[in-house]
Amino acid sequence: METDTIFAVSSGAGKAGVAVVRVSGPASARSVERLAGSVPPARVASVRSIRGRNGEAIDKGLVLWMPGPASFTGEDCVEFHVHGGRAVVAGLIEALSGFHGLRAAEAGEFARRAFANGKLDLTEVEGLADLIDAETEAQRRQALRQLEGRAGRVFDTWRERLIGILALCEAGIDFADEDDVPAGVSGQVGPAIADLCAEMARELADGGRGEMIRDGVTVVIAGEPNVGKSSLINALARRDVAIVSELPGTTRDAIAVRLDLAGVPVTVVDTAGIRETADAIETEGVRRARDHAARADLVLWLVERGTEQNGDLAVGGSEAWFVETKVDVRGGEAGLLTDDRFGISAKTGSGIAALIEALATWIGDRVGSGTDSLITRARHRTETMTALAALERAGRLDYVADGDLVAEELRAAANALGRITGRIDVEDVLDAIFGQFCIGK
Ligand code: GDP
Repeated sequence: METDTIFAVSSGAGKAGVAVVRVSGPASARSVERLAGSVPPARVASVRSIRGRNGEAIDKGLVLWMPGPASFTGEDCVEFHVHGGRAVVAGLIEALSGFHGLRAAEAGEFARRAFANGKLDLTEVEGLADLIDAETEAQRRQALRQLEGRAGRVFDTWRERLIGILALCEAGIDFADEDDVPAGVSGQVGPAIADLCAEMARELADGGRGEMIRDGVTVVIAGEPNVGKSSLINALARRDVAIVSELPGTTRDAIAVRLDLAGVPVTVVDTAGIRETADAIETEGVRRARDHAARADLVLWLVERGTEQNGDLAVGGSEAWFVETKVDVRGGEAGLLTDDRFGISAKTGSGIAALIEALATWIGDRVGSGTDSLITRARHRTETMTALAALERAGRLDYVADGDLVAEELRAAANALGRITGRIDVEDVLDAIFGQFCIGK
């Protein structure tokens, strides 16, 4: 049975100068022949009239013919670069839908075919998704590195080394009755396991840098009612150098703005407004504020100078800074006071720049500079930890007496690493990974 040929608009929605419609699958050649008169030379942009089924021109545009397997999906692909008007795109899509064997692509289906055809491993697919979502420079750099296969190669190399160690062990098991082999084999297995363990542990001890760049950081503004929480978030939001986007889905009980600090997306959440209503709701409000604070990477605990500094919300594992507010009326200095204490006035703006700078430094310290993190997602971390745990168990066993057990642990470790790149057994995560893409990717 022939695979379906899929098509989709791969450029963004809405009108634009140019729209790109992408087709992938065995009927690509047939569709380009019908629409553009003939199949253009491979990998050369050709200007063609693009005609619908009744022969009427839909538009004049560029046609790119990319025969498989040297294409993004590994299949025959064609791209139509047409004028990005709604009617042009609709006309082209309508013409493609009319061809036998062609259908509209599902979200992430081009990438899924690229994965299925061995063009991208799973970490590269994830890098691609991250690159499309990247909002900051650090995110873009990290995503591109991953898309280029740097992470995948490390995981694959680890896995190959594990398989090598496994082969040594199996040789040991096979030759266990003979005198000469086991000594040599067990002499190599131990150090090889120890080396690999050390490398994995080193990558895991990265302070969560990669995930921090990818997922961003949450800073929660907390404190008593009227202390100046909303005013601070407004003051932060007015620094348009810092703002990168409005946050969708912000709830009524918490207002958030998104800042780009040191290349990391920072979500600043204001818990103001949740304690202003009737008493019955107040308890719930406090609970939510605690919740937010407990999940934050950093809590800014706002206090008015001279008032009781009740920092109980700040506890719960999160780091907290104290910010004295309203220095214009309450007195005291603005700016950095001590390591974790600031003075600000949202009204005059004094101390705000120092606070932003300290936040950027704090984040910069956490994400480091220049050193790339191998691990960028919880999925990678979990599997790497599984692999390391199995490997450490193997390392504690006797390779000669317990050869079978060692081999079993090594296989478990290799499987965990194989799941990261998608070399093995990943059906369960594929839908989640490809589902993050938009249609047309
Ligand atoms: P929240 O309840 O903690 O969000 O506090 P708000 O931001 O709503 O501020 C409470 C009141 O304090 C408002 O009347 C603000 O105008 C005032 N306020 C906030 N920040 C400052 C400041 O830096 N200086 C002065 N003078 N007033 C402020």
